[in-house]
Amino acid sequence: MSTIRLSAAEIAEKLAAGEVSSAEVTQDHLDRIAAVDGDVNAFLALDGEGALETARDVDARRAAGETLHPLAGVPIAVKDVVATEGIVTTAGSRILEGWVPPYDAFLTRRLRAAGLPILGKTNMDEFAMGSSTEHSAYGPTHNPWDLDRIPGGSGGGSAAAVGAYEAPLAIGTDTGGSIRQPAAVTGTVGVKPTYGGVSRYGLIALASSLDQAGPVTRSVLDAALLHELIGGHDPLDSTSIDAPVPPVVEAARRADVSGLRIGIVRELGGEGYQAGVRARFDEAVTLLTKAGAEIVEVSCPSFEYALSTYYLILPAEASSNLAKFDAMRYGLRVGPHGVADPSAEQVMAATREAGFGDEVKRRIIIGTYALSSGYYDAYYGSAQKVRTLIAQDFARAFEQVDVLISPTSPTTAFRLGSKLDDPMSMYLQDVATIPANLAGIPGLSLPVGVAEEDGLPVGLQVLAPAMADDRLYNVGAALERLLLEQWGAPLLSKAPELATKEATK
Ligand code: GLN
Repeated sequence: MSTIRLSAAEIAEKLAAGEVSSAEVTQDHLDRIAAVDGDVNAFLALDGEGALETARDVDARRAAGETLHPLAGVPIAVKDVVATEGIVTTAGSRILEGWVPPYDAFLTRRLRAAGLPILGKTNMDEFAMGSSTEHSAYGPTHNPWDLDRIPGGSGGGSAAAVGAYEAPLAIGTDTGGSIRQPAAVTGTVGVKPTYGGVSRYGLIALASSLDQAGPVTRSVLDAALLHELIGGHDPLDSTSIDAPVPPVVEAARRADVSGLRIGIVRELGGEGYQAGVRARFDEAVTLLTKAGAEIVEVSCPSFEYALSTYYLILPAEASSNLAKFDAMRYGLRVGPHGVADPSAEQVMAATREAGFGDEVKRRIIIGTYALSSGYYDAYYGSAQKVRTLIAQDFARAFEQVDVLISPTSPTTAFRLGSKLDDPMSMYLQDVATIPANLAGIPGLSLPVGVAEEDGLPVGLQVLAPAMADDRLYNVGAALERLLLEQWGAPLLSKAPELATKEATK
């Protein structure tokens, strides 16, 4: 029987008990990818050979009696923004087409050292800019719940891979919501750790003061197991926190909200949120209350400006980070058309014109403008001040409550193509997730049911103070258990079956 429907924790148990081998588990997932990824397009690159090699090595070491990491042998998918030595890494961009990193990111090293077979690299919006994966230069990923819908973004590939049972675990990155929003719209679990909780060394930077890598899974416990593995100090990242990883696994196993104070953020709900999203959120609140949590409404007035603040700070940092794609150092190089002896500047301009997509160009232009002399104080400087106000709103809220909750995303998965011509409505997808990135605090999204009107998954977001990531897992796992009792099976198992290639044969 195939192992694809098992959680990572269940696979780990079976591996430890010798009931299955990592080679079998890895092959099961490669078979699933072969069967469904033609439709889903979650992967940009596959490394079946490499994954099986790791799997066989882990199996041999286990047979020899070696003590292994609990997740050793459990396959994983990695977002294409993470450097993987020997595996093409493009960040979803034409400008990096065919680029093979000469080194591993910190978290790739961690995964390899712990013996997790890396199945491949997942699709994403170009340089992680977007909420639908439609800005990928390699075609969009499709939502496994409905192939005509977006899987969220920028990490739609990681969320869809996990949601379509192509991988039990995946790595995402979240600069404004790119782990949590895709998790919400695909019925999966996604966590953005505290800023600095997971090293950024070897991530292709979008906005360095906001970027954070984290787990994408089908259960809260699985996310905790992966978080524990990839978290911790790294001297190669100057913003990496030099402190132990919060006790996330312990918290996921505790799953007890009795006596906990949970705040509902007034500004992250209500008008602008789909009716079915609000209904599922309200039900979850009732469950938490019944389980003994104290629910309080809190107000964070500066959140009104979070989106505007983010869309100044992010483009500013991105325009500077993306300056390195100059046709000289990495990837694509094209000569300007019809110029016989082009200057370096002409080659750079022609390459950036050909290699970057529209959304990337739009943000480089905005960022460059916001940072230009004469405008710097008015735009970038003001945005930084508002960022502080947002962090202060959180600090005040966390004086009253242990965690905050909100819907993760204002809507369920929208139709592919429906927001492509309207950047503003795309940006609004992240209205509830962005404040956490601006303040550097951790956030988790978990599925809380499907919306009445369209039958698509709804996510609930839990937020905690910096370095209190364990609280996310405690609340998330408690809610997950309460919902499981209600539904009788995980939400994802209610997703419509993907027609696999075997089935259509
Ligand atoms: N959708 C947001 C954006 O386009 C968030 C992206 C992210 O978290 N990488 O910037």
